[in-house]
Amino acid sequence: MEWPESFYELRRGVGCPMCAQGRPEETEYGVRIFAGEVSDAYLQKAGVQRGYTIVIWRGRHVAEPTELDPEEAAAYWHELLRVGRALEERFEPVKLNYELLGNSLPHLHTHVMPRYEDDPKPGWPFPHPEEEPAPHPGAELRSDVEALRALLAWSRAGRRSRAGSTR
Ligand SMILES: [Zn+2]
Repeated sequence: MEWPESFYELRRGVGCPMCAQGRPEETEYGVRIFAGEVSDAYLQKAGVQRGYTIVIWRGRHVAEPTELDPEEAAAYWHELLRVGRALEERFEPVKLNYELLGNSLPHLHTHVMPRYEDDPKPGWPFPHPEEEPAPHPGAELRSDVEALRALLAWSRAGRRSRAGSTR
């Protein structure tokens, strides 16, 4: 088995769909719950797992996190954890996974996957389904989006006021 030729082009950013999409509120796959300085977070529409979110790096095209300079890396990690905290608060998972893969689309992004008491494979990486799963019920997705947006807006305000109080 070899990587397809198209992968090498994508890795360089040629035809990269994550670069081309800009910073939309909604994509084919997800609804944005957070717009940071360097990333966007999208709650996924597919019914893979409730709370499944993808955080996408929104700077220049980067395939590996090692291509980020220290400030960029710190900013990305910081925003990723902020999204993670909101997911913990909303869904109270047993474990929260951060999967940094990029094997099919090599533009820096992280799958944030809550693992619940009822889990398809406890103790192991989450088994992503090979076939497209049914979408989440629309009402549940919408209420999760609203709740997560509220949590993330609140934590941003909280961070500002704490920073202000230390001066
Ligand atoms: Zn890209």
